[in-house]
Order: sequence, then C-alpha cells, then structure tokens
Amino acid sequence: MTDQSIETTCCIAGGGPAGIMLGFLLARAGVEVTVLEKHADFFRDFRGDTIHPSTLELMHELGLLDEFLTVPHDEVRELTAQIGDARVKVADFTHLPTRCKFIALMPQWDFLDFLAKQGQRFPTFDLRMGAEAVDLIEEGGRIAGVRAKTADGMIDIRADLVVGCDGRHSTVRERAGLAVEDLGAPIDVLWFRLSRRDSDTPETFGHLEAGRMMIMLNRRDYWQCAYVIAKGGIEAVKREGLAAFRQNVLAMSPFLDDRISELDDWDKIKLLTVAVDRLKTWHRPGLLCIGDAAHAMSPVGGVGVNLAVQDAVATANILAQALKERRVTAELLAAVETRRSLPMRVIQRLQVFVHNRVLTRVLASRGRIAPPWPVKLLNRFPLLRRLTAYIIGIGVRPEHIRTSASAR
Ligand SMILES: Cc1cc2nc3c(=O)[nH]c(=O)nc-3n(C[C@H](O)[C@H](O)[C@H](O)COP(=O)(O)OP(=O)(O)OC[C@H]3O[C@@H](n4cnc5c(N)ncnc54)[C@H](O)[C@@H]3O)c2cc1C
Repeated sequence: MTDQSIETTCCIAGGGPAGIMLGFLLARAGVEVTVLEKHADFFRDFRGDTIHPSTLELMHELGLLDEFLTVPHDEVRELTAQIGDARVKVADFTHLPTRCKFIALMPQWDFLDFLAKQGQRFPTFDLRMGAEAVDLIEEGGRIAGVRAKTADGMIDIRADLVVGCDGRHSTVRERAGLAVEDLGAPIDVLWFRLSRRDSDTPETFGHLEAGRMMIMLNRRDYWQCAYVIAKGGIEAVKREGLAAFRQNVLAMSPFLDDRISELDDWDKIKLLTVAVDRLKTWHRPGLLCIGDAAHAMSPVGGVGVNLAVQDAVATANILAQALKERRVTAELLAAVETRRSLPMRVIQRLQVFVHNRVLTRVLASRGRIAPPWPVKLLNRFPLLRRLTAYIIGIGVRPEHIRTSASAR
C-alpha cells in the first residue's frame, strides 16, 4: 500500500555519479526523469574524489568546463607511489589528448552537487533526496516502476524505464533477480580522516610497506585516508588494538605523529568493503543497470567513477531519443550493455591483476618490500607511464556527448 503514485518516463534509482549524470543528460535532452537518492544530501563520505580527464572532456563538450573548474579542486598530473624505500612514478597525464591533462581531485559531493544543479535548470529533471528504492513494480514480467520509501511515506514511481544506479549493494539488481558473477576482491579499506596542516605536502599519494598500504587524499583541511587491509581482516586489526593501528599508520606517514591521537575511537574508522563483480545481463524488459550496480569496481586505479559516468553518457546517447518517443526496446537496452561491456571487462581484468600480483603480495609480505616488476617497468619507461595514464584517465572506448540540449 503506497501513499502516493507518480508517473515519469525514466526513473533512476541512485544519485551517485552514474545516476546524477544520466538524470542530467536525459533532462537536458528533454526526457522526463525522476532520480531517487536515499540520502538526504550528497555531503557524506562518498568513495572516490577523482574526476578524470575524460569526464573533464565531457564537461567541455557540454560547455560546462570553465564553470566546473571554478569549484575548488587539486590537479594531479603525475601519479607516484612510495613502495618500501623506493619512490616510483606510475602514470604521467601530461601527454593525454584531452583539454585537461590532469585528474581533478574534488570531493565527490561537490561534483554531484554541480551536476544536480545543472540538471535543475531543466523542467523535466526531478531529483528526490531522501527517497530510497525498496522494491520494483512488476507487471506481466515487465518492470513498470519503483516503490520508494520517503520521509512522507511510500511512493510508487511508474516509468517506461527504470535504471538501477544504486551502486555495489544495489537493491534494484537484487529485486530484479539479475544474476551476479563475483570476481572476488582480496582487500577491504579502512576509511578515516586526520587533520591537515599547511606545512604538509600538498600531494595525494599512495604508500606501500610490507604488510600494509595506505592512500592519502588531500582534502585541504584534512587528509582522507584509505588504509588497505586483507579481505575480512577487520576483526584481526581490532584485536591488535587502536594503539597498534595508529602505529601502523605512523610507520607509513610519520608526519602525522602530532595528530594521530585524533583516531581515538573505532567509530572514526569506517570499513568499506571492496567487491569486483558484474551482472551476467544488465537488463530486463523495462529495466537497465549501469555503473557499480551493473559492475562493482575496486578502488584500484581510481577508475570506478569514470566508468560510471561513461556508462551514463552511453546510456543517454543510446536511449534519449527512444525515451522521448516512448519506444525503448530490449534491443536498445542490450545495445547499452554491448557498448559498455568491453571497457568494464578490460578494467576489471586489470584490477584483478593488480589485486593478485601487487596488493595480495604486499599485504602478505613481512620483510622489506621492493617495487614489483610491473611497477619497476613503469618507473623506468616514460612511454609506459603515458599508457597507464591513458588507461586511467581516458579508458577504453571513451564516450562523447551525442545528445543535444532541448529548448528549456
Ligand atoms: C573504498 C573505495 C574507494 C574508491 N575510490 C575510488 C576513487 O578514488 N576513484 C574512483 O573513480 N572510484 C573509486 N571507487 C569506486 C567508485 O566508488 C565506484 O565505482 C563509483 O562510485 C560507482 O558509481 P555509481 O554511481 O555507479 O555508484 P555509487 O557511487 O555507489 O552511487 C550509488 C548511489 O545510490 C544511492 N543508493 C544506494 N541504494 C539506493 C536505493 N535503494 N535507493 C536510492 N538510492 C540508493 C547511494 O546512496 C549512492 O548515492 C572506490 C570504491 C571503494 C569501495
């Protein structure tokens, strides 16, 4: 029993990078779209602050790049890592064939806020915060809408097409009964913040030592830290105690000594589970999944946001006109999956390779560690670093905006 029922052309469940980008592009093309986001705002610890050169290129194609770059951000032109005693270079973005030859580091809520504001310029964009998709409406074997829980009660959103953009723990894909292929991930991440001083290095960097690994994102007044542990290892970490954990953090970044005491409670350290999986089929009549809901990505390479955005662009390119004419077919939904499968598979394969060849070994090692051979090669040959930059910054089969803006 629901309290309210509305109709729209496309209902998107999930207001992360995939959902907000798709909502904006469809509204811009004149499609009626309702985006449901279960949280009341974007201001929470989203994973991933990386806005890739390919996404910046899309912003340029949309005529939004200059405005977007006024949002505070940092520009990363080269990726380096500290492995044991060695400082190694792994990617060089300065030769990319894009307008912006850097990764922009921006808190994800600013990115989502920016896109949501762009969407709100169009009358067909309906973003509902604090609305959680809890079930699908099914009629005659076809998905006909979403049932959502809001502060004002339950609401049915009936739509020609439902797009699941609700991330790695997708309710939509689960309720639709879509089969998942799990590729496994040997790591989880402990996510916490420590204050940042003006005298600290401005660099965002990764540090690998025997048995431990940490990435630190510069968010101006604080460091967002991602401490990598073996999958399911949280209980062992807690058993060793908070003091031991703080020492492990300091062993990698001694300059944090004067503020490590900020980590005085496990509540300040959040476990983010890492998964790498993909749906066997991304669609059913009336339903499509994209982004992490279709293929959960590991944080390795910081490319999941990029893939989610690219999925959204491809979906809008393929479906916008059909949605406007209310004639979305199974073939068109399959075309989205076909177009995006290759990039997703290539990147997941690379992530699994790094999990198995680099991360598992680092976490299992006890003595001194040296860079593994793939990293040594990257450090030695600048051309290889341009290749990693291309894969991270642009990826396979980059998408371009093919939809046009409808009259407002
Ligand atoms: C620890 C960690 C660190 C990462 N770091 C990076 C990085 O630095 N760079 C990078 O590119 N990628 C990173 N990734 C991967 C990246 O986070 C994902 O690939 C990317 O966010 C996928 O975008 P998405 O829009 O598909 O899903 P998400 O970003 O997961 O967004 C899903 C949205 O749906 C909402 N939602 C969920 N369920 C419902 C529901 N039932 N109803 C309504 N709304 C719902 C959520 O609140 C969320 O806003 C990281 C992943 C992990 C696990």
